[in-house]
Amino acid sequence: MVEPEDGRAMDLSGLTLLEARRRLRCGDVSAVELTQAVLARIVEQDNRVRAYLTLTPETALEQAREADACLASCRRDNAEPPALIGLPLAIKDVLCTAGIATTCGSRMLEDFIPPYDATVVARVRQAGAVVLGKTNTDEFAMGSSTENSAYFPTHNPWDLSRVPGGSSGGSAAAVAAGEALGALGSDTGGSVRQPAAFCGIVGLKPTYGRVSRYGLVAFASSFDQVGTLTRDVADAALLLGVIAGADAHDATCVDLPVPDYLAGLEGGLQGVCLGVPDEFFGRGMETEVETVVRRALQDLETLGARLERVSLPHTEYALPVYYLLAPAEASSNLARYDGVKYGYAAREARDLWDYYKRTRERGFGAEVKRRIMLGTYALSAGYYDAYYLKAQKVRTLIREDFERALQRVDAIVAPTSPTVAFPIGARADDPLQMYLSDVYTL
Ligand code: GLN
Repeated sequence: MVEPEDGRAMDLSGLTLLEARRRLRCGDVSAVELTQAVLARIVEQDNRVRAYLTLTPETALEQAREADACLASCRRDNAEPPALIGLPLAIKDVLCTAGIATTCGSRMLEDFIPPYDATVVARVRQAGAVVLGKTNTDEFAMGSSTENSAYFPTHNPWDLSRVPGGSSGGSAAAVAAGEALGALGSDTGGSVRQPAAFCGIVGLKPTYGRVSRYGLVAFASSFDQVGTLTRDVADAALLLGVIAGADAHDATCVDLPVPDYLAGLEGGLQGVCLGVPDEFFGRGMETEVETVVRRALQDLETLGARLERVSLPHTEYALPVYYLLAPAEASSNLARYDGVKYGYAAREARDLWDYYKRTRERGFGAEVKRRIMLGTYALSAGYYDAYYLKAQKVRTLIREDFERALQRVDAIVAPTSPTVAFPIGARADDPLQMYLSDVYTL
């Protein structure tokens, strides 16, 4: 079914979403041809990259045929085709997909097939996108390297001995390797931005409330957002425009108009003031990273932006605050996995208590258990005030730092990760080292 790799197929799998869209619309390429090219690329690459947990080639080709029919009728009627018609996308395996396994990278949900689509999945489908499959992730999105997947680690396509970042490492690797034209991920404390940086693509964590989380399996609900992974900024604008906006199924999703993000890209940076936070440069940052970031700052200036130093004085508390609050919320969210209604179930248990214990003991991996224990501790009577409540207060101070800085500047520019992509295995046994990967995104 999948055509062998050839020069043209290679070209097609490397297109940006917008370029592919232009070619589809003018009939230069068909959606079936494009999808076949990407599927061929997956066959060729994914035994090494291992970006996907589940592939859905048959339904992808079926959607591509429907897209071609839609494109033909739009051409006939001179009508505007749906925004993502015929564009092959990958979906992180923490987003529910009707009829397609959604494992969250966990044994706990190995056999879980959701009966409904997450709102963002429904929206990209409605816009005509072709869904290629589900991408690998750290278990329940807890991690920074995709090594915490219960199934296998994903490899960085630029250097297979290195991690792609995480937790949306499968989505980032897929887009970087030509195994998808764009992807959806989720970002709680960096899980879209950091893997995008490690794989040399563009990752966007939208503002909390901009995008519906209905059907996103919850990790830390006061931080979780769905985000985009694309080859360039214009593609991020295109994809965000499709997934953003109010949703009756998610009360935290705000009812504000969705601007035309693409229209805003051409204005240049003249008159824009960008803040560069002092606290984001220094200790722990690799010189390779610093060199590239400083060069990017110069480029921004060349493009017309004015740079101004700002201070975010509570930055040093971001990591401890996040690693108290996110596990606290996770410990509560993950209490639902008890083997009763869905997910892994230790059926041979002797009694109910034994049943819960065995289910959670076997269903969860080490990092998830560590977070549940940290979070339960931070929330327990006697420690709640000292840890959870205090962390919430410091979170407010951190937010106020940003609000103060943003009164003076239009946006803040900062590095994404203190290091380049590290070798697989280098931090896997050292949770604290791993957590330090997130120091800028938290
Ligand atoms: N790496 C961070 C963590 O392990 C962030 C993960 C995320 O954003 N989902 O919690």
